[in-house]
Amino acid sequence: MADHTGKRASKRAAKRIDTSSIKTTTLISFVVFALFLVMILWGLSNFFLSSFYERARSQEVIRTAETLEAQFKQDRFNFGSLAVQTASTNGIYIRIDTEEDTLIFDGTREIQGSEVFDTDVSRIKTKLASTDTGSVSETRRDASGAGSRLIYASYVTANGTDNVLCIIAPLYPDQVTVRILRDMLIYVSFIVLIVSLLLAFALSVRLTSPIEKLTRSAMELSKGNHDVYFDGAGFTETKELARALNKASYEMEKTDFYQREIIANVSHDLKTPLTMIRSYAEKIIDITGDNPEKRNADLNVIISETEHLNRLVTDMLSVSNLQSNNVKMNMETFDLVQAARSVYESFRVLESDGFEIYFHPCKAAYVVGDRTRLTQVMTNFVSNAVKYSGDNKYIDIRLSKSSKKVTFHCIDHGMGIPSDEISHVWDKYYRTSANHERGIEGTGLGLAIVKGLLNLHGAKYGVESEEGKGSDFWFEMDTFRKPAAEKQAAEEAE
Ligand code: ADP
Repeated sequence: MADHTGKRASKRAAKRIDTSSIKTTTLISFVVFALFLVMILWGLSNFFLSSFYERARSQEVIRTAETLEAQFKQDRFNFGSLAVQTASTNGIYIRIDTEEDTLIFDGTREIQGSEVFDTDVSRIKTKLASTDTGSVSETRRDASGAGSRLIYASYVTANGTDNVLCIIAPLYPDQVTVRILRDMLIYVSFIVLIVSLLLAFALSVRLTSPIEKLTRSAMELSKGNHDVYFDGAGFTETKELARALNKASYEMEKTDFYQREIIANVSHDLKTPLTMIRSYAEKIIDITGDNPEKRNADLNVIISETEHLNRLVTDMLSVSNLQSNNVKMNMETFDLVQAARSVYESFRVLESDGFEIYFHPCKAAYVVGDRTRLTQVMTNFVSNAVKYSGDNKYIDIRLSKSSKKVTFHCIDHGMGIPSDEISHVWDKYYRTSANHERGIEGTGLGLAIVKGLLNLHGAKYGVESEEGKGSDFWFEMDTFRKPAAEKQAAEEAE
C-alpha cells in the first residue's frame, strides 16, 4: 500500500515537471543562457578588468607626465599648483628633482610608505641614467599584493639644466571603486536573471498557447465533433499546422459522410441481389424445379446476382489493399495499344444492346507497368462510360502518342458530371448526386481503385466533363523502347 502511494506521488511529481515540454525547455534554456551571461560578466570582470585597467591607466599616466613636463618647461613656478591638482585627482605620486631641491606631490590614497617610493625612485633614476631615450618606465607588483604600480621617470630640460620627473601610480582601482563595480555586477546579474525568467515565461506562454488551443480542438475532434475549428493564430508554423488540421478534419468529415452513405448504399446493393437469390431459389423449389428450362433460367439469375455480389466484395477488398499499400505489382514492358484493343474487344458484345463503341488506336506504345492492373483501369473507364452514357450510347476509346508519352482516353456523350462534383469522383465511396436519383447501381469504389493503381504507376490522370454533354476520362504514361524479345518475335512473324 505504502509502495503504491509512493509511486503515485512520484508520478504526480513527474507530471508536474515535464522536462520535455516547451515551457520547461524554454525556461531552462533561458536560465542557462542567463547564467552563462552572468558567468561571462563575472569572468570578464575578474580576469580581464585588471589587465584592461592597467593598460588604460599606464597610457593615462604617460599622458599626464607629458603635460607636466610641458608645464615645467613653460612655467616652472606654476608647476606646483598643477602637480598638486594632478596628484590628488589621479591618485598618483609626483616628484621632481631639480638642482636646487626636490618637490614631492603625493596623491596616492593607498599609503605605500615613503621608503618604498624612495627605493622605486632611486632605481628608476639609475635606469634613466643608463639609457639615452629620455624617459623610462616599469611596472612592479605591490608588496601588499593589491596589484601593480607604474614607475615612470623622464628628463625635463629647462633653462639648460636637466631635472628628473618621477611618477608612481597604482595600476589598480581603489577599494571603493572595486566595491561599487562589484555591487553593480550583482545588480546586473540579478536583472539579467529576472529579465530572462520573465522573457522565458512570456515566450513559453506565447509559444504554447496556440498549441494548447490546437490540442483542445484535436481532443474535440477525436470525440467525433467535426464542427471544431483549428485556430493556430500566433506563428506561421502553428497557422500552417492549423490549416493542415482543418483540412484533415474536413477530409475525415467527408470520409465519414461517404462511409455512412456507402453503408446505406452497400447494404442496399447487397440486399437487392440477396433478396433476388432468395426469391429465385424459393421459386425453383416451389415452381420451376421440375421444369429444366425455367429452372436453368432462374439459376442463371442466381449466378449473375452472386457475380454482382462478388464484384462488390472484390472492390471493397481492392480499396482496402490499396489503402494499406498491400498490392503486389507485376511490372513488364508491354504495348498499351494492344491492351486497350483487348478491352475494346471485350465491350463489343454490348453492340447488340445498341452501344456504338469506336476504337482509335495510335502506333504501338510500350509502357512499363502491370498489364492486368492497367487493363482493369481501362475496363473501369469503359464500363463507367457504358453505365453513365444514358440515351447516347456512342463511346470513343482513343489513344494518342506524343514524343515520349501515350494517353488513353475513354470518351462518352452521356450524363457528364456537375462541375462542383468533378473533383470528388476519385474519392472512395463517392457517387454523384444525379446517379443516386437515377438509381444506377454502383459502389463509388471503381475510380478510387483506378486512382490508387495509376498512382502506383506514377501516371498522370484526369477527367474533363460537362453536365449533360459527356465525359473524357484519361491517363498518361511514359513510353519506352520495344523490348528486344518482342522485336525479334515481330521480325520472325514478318
Ligand atoms: P461507381 O461504382 O459509382 O460507378 P466509380 O468510382 O466508378 O463508382 O465512380 C464514381 C462516380 O463518378 C460515379 O458514381 C458517377 O457518379 C461518376 N462517374 C464516373 N464515371 C462517369 C462517367 N463516365 N460519366 C458520368 N459520371 C461518371
